[in-house]
Amino acid sequence: MQATLILKHKINMLNETHDPSLTSWLESANDPAIGFPVQHLPFAVFRRAGRAEPYRPGVALGDQIIDLAQLAAIKPFSGLAAEALSTCTGSTLNALMALGNTYWTELRLALSRAVRVGSSLQAEITRVLIPQAQAEYSLPAHIRDYTDFYISIYHATAGGKISRPDAPLLPNFKWLPIGYHGRASSVVMSGHGVARPIGQSRPVRSDEAPSFGPSKRLDFELEMGMFVGPGNAQGTRISIDQADEHIFGLCILNDWSARDVQAWEVQPLGPFLAKSFATTISPWIVTREALEPFRLPFNRPATDPQPLPYLMNESTKQGGVYDISLRALMSTERSRAAKHPPALLAHSNLCHAYWTLSQLITHHTVNGCNLQPGDLIGTGTMSGPNPDQALSFNELSAGGTRAVTLPWGQERKFLEDGDEVILQAECIKHGYPRLNFGQATGKILPSI
Ligand code: MN
Repeated sequence: MQATLILKHKINMLNETHDPSLTSWLESANDPAIGFPVQHLPFAVFRRAGRAEPYRPGVALGDQIIDLAQLAAIKPFSGLAAEALSTCTGSTLNALMALGNTYWTELRLALSRAVRVGSSLQAEITRVLIPQAQAEYSLPAHIRDYTDFYISIYHATAGGKISRPDAPLLPNFKWLPIGYHGRASSVVMSGHGVARPIGQSRPVRSDEAPSFGPSKRLDFELEMGMFVGPGNAQGTRISIDQADEHIFGLCILNDWSARDVQAWEVQPLGPFLAKSFATTISPWIVTREALEPFRLPFNRPATDPQPLPYLMNESTKQGGVYDISLRALMSTERSRAAKHPPALLAHSNLCHAYWTLSQLITHHTVNGCNLQPGDLIGTGTMSGPNPDQALSFNELSAGGTRAVTLPWGQERKFLEDGDEVILQAECIKHGYPRLNFGQATGKILPSI
C-alpha cells in the first residue's frame, strides 16, 4: 500500500521535462558549474544593462537568457503554451502567474522541447538569446502584498532564547505557521543598496527613554520567497489539496532587520519599522514544477502535535518538503579591497522548515483572505539545527554577545556600513543536474 502511494505521487508530479538525461544544443546549459540546465528554466524580468529598452520576461538557459518577449513575437508554440507565452511581453510576470498550473506546465514543456538537442526551433531560440553577463533585472512581478512567515523552529527557538530564556518557543508555534504582514513597497531587486534605517531603540533600563538614531544592530535573514499564482477570491479558501497549484515559484529573500528597533517595537503587534525599510529578492523565480524532483516526505516528530486536518493531506505527507541548499556569505570594504573571497557565514536547507509551503498558502487563506497573482510570501529565516546553520547575525552572535571572526580577521556582531551580504541557493541531488537559484545581494549604505 505504502509503495503504491509513493509511486502514484511520483507519477503525478514528474514528467518528461524532469528527465535527468536531457541535454541542450546550447553547450553552457550542460555545464553544472553554471547550473541553468534544460531541467531548470527559471523566470526573471530583465533588460540589457545600460540600454533604454523595456524590461521583459526571460528564461535562463546556461549562461544565456531566452528573451520571451522576442520569442512571443515569433509565435513558435501552439495551444496553451502559445497562450502562456503571449502573456510574457510586459514588464512583469503577473499575467503568467494568474494563468495557473495548466498553462505553466504546457509552457515549460514547449520550452524544454525547444532547447533540447535535436529541437527544430534551435535557430529561432538562438536568435533571441541574450547573455546573462549583459543583463540587469527588475522585480519579476508587481507585488501587491508581501507576507513573511517564521517557520524554522530553530530560528524561533534561538530568537526566543534571547528574550525568553525559560520558554523560548511560544505555544502556538507548533500549531500554526506564524506570520506578519510585510511591506510590499520596499521589496527591491538583488544589488540594490540598503541604507541603514533610523529609529527608536529599546532603552537599557525600563525607566529610561529609548535611544533614537541609526540602527546599531542591523541584520540579515536568509529566507525563501514564494510567488503566488492565481490565488483566491475574498471569502474563499485554498484547500491543502489545491495549494500547490497556487505556488508559481521560489526565489531567495533577505529580510533585512534592525534588531534594536525590533526589540523595542515588536510587542504587542509584531514587527513594523524594524523590517519595512527593505527586503531584497534574487532575480530568478524557480518554478514549483522545476523543484518536483527535490521533494521530501514531511516528518513531524511523533512527540509534537500533528497538524490540524486542514493543514495535512497525503501529498504533504509524501512530498511536502523541498530540499534546497542555502548559503549566506558576506564581504566588507576591507575584504574586497584586499581581494579576499566572501566569507561563508552559515549554510542551511529549506527542508528544516517546520511547516510546508502548501501549508503556508492554505493557512494564509483559511479565514477567507484573498491571495493575488504576484503576491510574495517569505518563509522566515531558514536556520537549521546546528550552530553553523544560523542564517542571521542575531543567532550567529547570540544576540550580539559574542563576535563572529571573519577569515581576514575582522569581527562582526551585526552589519556595518559597506558590508555586503550575498545569499545563495541551489538544488543538488545525485544523478540529477544542479539547479542554481543565483543570488540575492545587498550592500549596507550609511544611514540617510
Ligand atoms: Mn523574516
